[in-house]
Amino acid sequence: MNETTSATAAPLARLIDEFHRLPGIGPKSAQRLAYYLLRMPPADAQALAAAILEVKERVTLCSICQNVTEVDPCRVCTDERRDRATICVVEEPLDILALERSHSYQGLYHVLHGAISPMDGIGPEDLKMTELLQRLRSDEVREIILATNPNLEGEATAMYLTRLLKPLGVKVTRLARGLPVGGDLEYADDVTLARALEGRQEMQG
Ligand SMILES: [Zn+2]
Repeated sequence: MNETTSATAAPLARLIDEFHRLPGIGPKSAQRLAYYLLRMPPADAQALAAAILEVKERVTLCSICQNVTEVDPCRVCTDERRDRATICVVEEPLDILALERSHSYQGLYHVLHGAISPMDGIGPEDLKMTELLQRLRSDEVREIILATNPNLEGEATAMYLTRLLKPLGVKVTRLARGLPVGGDLEYADDVTLARALEGRQEMQG
């Protein structure tokens, strides 16, 4: 007898399947999570389900910086205290959380939602680059900090953006080395991130 199919109630098997599709969740973790939910008080399970639905209904992308937000434009884009002459370009919304945690950056952001990766069939046209160019036309931007990840895809994206941005007369810089190579910005500690920002260098295009 197959343990996971016959011995598992159908709705539970379906929940296990759904968890298994999430990033970083293996079959064992999916089972544990599903059984945990099964034992949860109904009110807690309802709160979780409501939170999942709400994030899909109410969270959208900021029309300026493309970060996830429930108000458009987002709170960073409308914050008068931030330096509007600098835009820090990141791959993912989580990278912004890391940079904000480091308390070492006061400018604006732009989220590309990915990086150039020929292996995965992701080209420049799949990223929010047109939106970035549009901002250069209207805002008083003087410096673009390329904070894409220090791996192959991140470097390729930084090179591509440099060639795109330099002719527009804006200063283009890249976070200093020192970030763990091959790692994600998202996992860098505050001190390392602050140093990488402080030591950023101008890109030669
Ligand atoms: Zn924004």
